[in-house]
Amino acid sequence: MKQGLLIVVSGPSGTGKGTVCERLLASTPELAYSISATTRQPRAGEVDGQNYYFLTREQFEQKIAEGDFLEYANVYGNYYGTPLGKIQERRAAGEDVLLEIDTQGALNVMQRCPDGLFIFLLPPSLTELEHRIRGRGSETEETLARRLGNAKKEIQIGRKYKYVVVNDEVELAVARIKSILTAEHCRVDLNTELFEVLQDEKR
Ligand code: 5GP
Repeated sequence: MKQGLLIVVSGPSGTGKGTVCERLLASTPELAYSISATTRQPRAGEVDGQNYYFLTREQFEQKIAEGDFLEYANVYGNYYGTPLGKIQERRAAGEDVLLEIDTQGALNVMQRCPDGLFIFLLPPSLTELEHRIRGRGSETEETLARRLGNAKKEIQIGRKYKYVVVNDEVELAVARIKSILTAEHCRVDLNTELFEVLQDEKR
């Protein structure tokens, strides 16, 4: 059984990662989403076990101590972490797994899983980024300024990723990511059995 890909998508707050990942998942049934754990409060409409596993600080710290996370990070004062067990199970079963995590977390995953497929989403401009964050309506002026300042720094971390995708239009961004996945599945080093089968074929 071929191991599934570990796909890591990051990008600064407001780039539209959530929407891009949602559409990608909706149109790629064979792709599994890794549900993160977090200590932040659920936003309106968010469902425990679907968007995130919402944990208390104590529960989260217990899981850190037990080594349950592939990575975890403190983002804007809250913990966010990627549960390890399900990812291993799914990849072993040949499924590709998608992680939507911040850059701190992704840099840790690069160390632990250098074979991961690291994709960075960029906004078309900083002006557009601000517009999108304001449109979401969930920020105070203070948290908005903080997110924008962080975004500018975070964008430069994108240089360490393998692929960069500009989210100018959601459907285009999704199509670009799908092309990346298709290309990755065609890598010679992930398909050595194709050569072996042909080599062994009796003719
Ligand atoms: P939000 O609170 O807007 O859902 O997410 C805030 C940030 O946390 C986003 O950049 C998101 O990608 C990141 N994030 C979500 N889940 C994880 C995770 O499991 N690990 C890490 N390191 N970051 C995460």
